[in-house]
Amino acid sequence: MKIGELVKQHIKDIFSNCEIAEHDEIYHLLDYKDSKNMFGVNYPFCTELENIEQSESKRYWTEIYIVRSKRVRVTSQWFEKSRESFLKYIESKGISVENNLENSTNNEHKALSPFKNNSNSRYRGAAIGNSQNLFIRNILSNLGQESFTENDWNLTKDYFLYKCAYCALEAELLIEHAIPINKEKLGEHKLGNVVPSCKTCNSRKAGKDFREFLGDDTAAIEKIEQYMDSRNYVPLEDNEQIKMILNMAYKEVGFLAERYVTIINELFSHSINNYKQPNE
Ligand SMILES: [Zn+2]
Repeated sequence: MKIGELVKQHIKDIFSNCEIAEHDEIYHLLDYKDSKNMFGVNYPFCTELENIEQSESKRYWTEIYIVRSKRVRVTSQWFEKSRESFLKYIESKGISVENNLENSTNNEHKALSPFKNNSNSRYRGAAIGNSQNLFIRNILSNLGQESFTENDWNLTKDYFLYKCAYCALEAELLIEHAIPINKEKLGEHKLGNVVPSCKTCNSRKAGKDFREFLGDDTAAIEKIEQYMDSRNYVPLEDNEQIKMILNMAYKEVGFLAERYVTIINELFSHSINNYKQPNE
């Protein structure tokens, strides 16, 4: 399959991931530099319609997608050298690459795959990676007795003097998880792991751990670590047992989602075939 086709087949999945992603994933895809880093392409992965200049229009596919209330078109400027990084990206988002099976001659498997671009499919786009990630988030967010309340959020902002915990900017503050909530990092939605962040840091940090994101800024790292200690937040990050359990849950949700999507698609492929019988 050509790289362009490969990308096209996963656009919907990539955007549905943006809809549910914890961080503002879409801003990376809209950003020229981030897109270059992620995929090695010379255009942003996608651009909002109003920002596409007439002369650049031919560098984007014509389909319009709505993601996070933005109307965007995706760049068509893909070359083979980006294949590996593109596959890595979708894999990291839990998006299945089963579409590749379309090239195979194994028709039996094809018929069962819910991901094929089949006009008979009732189920649009493979949100299966999303359901897996959501499930993991749900588990991690509900560990322990206490929940994170409005009052906790106010106290947290107060502790950080109403500034971004990463860059100390006084700006509109978003809820940020210093250790991200996913099956690799095992962050939790709990007092101690929630910190205030400006929009820019929130978007740049994405799925990184706060230490990885802050790098040389040891003062900011220490401040967050002190904050975690002061709230008795003990990160799960080294807990191999939890990691193993969450990996099992992740796989199982994937199988479950795929099974039901397949059943639904089979149902509709039959009813459409019946519907097509000539009677007019
Ligand atoms: Zn910031």
